[in-house]
Amino acid sequence: MPLIIISGFPSSGKTTRAKQLQEFLATKGKQVKLISENAAIPKAGFKKNVYYADSQKEKIVRSDLKSEAIRLLNKDDVVILDAGNYIKGYRYELFCATKAARGTQCTLFCGIQKDKAWEFNCQRTEEEKETNLTSDDDSNLNNSNVPYTREIFDALCMRFEEPHGNCRWDKPLFVVFPEDNLDCEGIYSALFDSAPLPPNMSTQNAPISATNYLFEMDQLTQQIVADVMSSRKIGITGPVPVKGSNIKVDLPDNINAIQLNRLRRQFLNYSKMHSTSSTLDKVPQLFVQFLNSNCNV
Ligand code: ADP
Ligand code: MG
Repeated sequence: MPLIIISGFPSSGKTTRAKQLQEFLATKGKQVKLISENAAIPKAGFKKNVYYADSQKEKIVRSDLKSEAIRLLNKDDVVILDAGNYIKGYRYELFCATKAARGTQCTLFCGIQKDKAWEFNCQRTEEEKETNLTSDDDSNLNNSNVPYTREIFDALCMRFEEPHGNCRWDKPLFVVFPEDNLDCEGIYSALFDSAPLPPNMSTQNAPISATNYLFEMDQLTQQIVADVMSSRKIGITGPVPVKGSNIKVDLPDNINAIQLNRLRRQFLNYSKMHSTSSTLDKVPQLFVQFLNSNCNV
């Protein structure tokens, strides 16, 4: 489920590099899904220089691009996201999505001197077409060769949060300047010869429906507390076995219901915040471990 995130100043060569990569990957027999803001912006009915002047408009298309990229992540096809991707937090969200999908990804940063980018921009001559949203055929819409105004160009350069090779969400990072050859083989191998990122707590899905999970967990822990209290009541001391398992709750003989319930609430609160990695059948064991280690200190 490889994803290539392209990032760079306006007119830094992102689309040029995206096409190079697409061609290279095709020679390797890979299907490539190229998602480009050059098409998404006019399709959403926005003109290039109006769009970048309005953060609300940007938000809409950015979020569409992200959803589309995530939707297309699958085993073999390569998704190339050709857009400014200038917000660090946005790149982080994509990274989490790739991780959750057990995919691989890399970032291609099109480095360039600002003056050079402006020079490239000035070579663009296309006029913005009137977008006709009532037309069914919007497949040819593309604003790639429409120049940015000076104002928008400067604003975009100012807002740009450069990718860094030591940030985990920008890793592995490939940097290419206009005069450089693109390291296509390196990118290919980063995507196909490396193991997918292991999912962690923050990128795993909550088990079953979250409300149901919490309810069940509440019931299971209540039952264990009730069992301990009733054996204490009838004078049984020492470890109390948990029904249906071979684990035992090993608590001080003088523990009372208030203390136990306080611990139970702590456990539930902790689990709510970290409620991702365990299935329900592990709950009794985790709760008992929690009790044993918090009562015997
Ligand atoms: P971006 O997608 O980042 O806005 P493009 O890839 O569309 O940038 O490139 C902007 C302009 O600069 C285009 O006209 C393109 O032909 C030109 N260009 C891009 N890369 C180079 C390069 N390495 N050498 C010369 N011209 C380039
Ligand atoms: Mg472009």
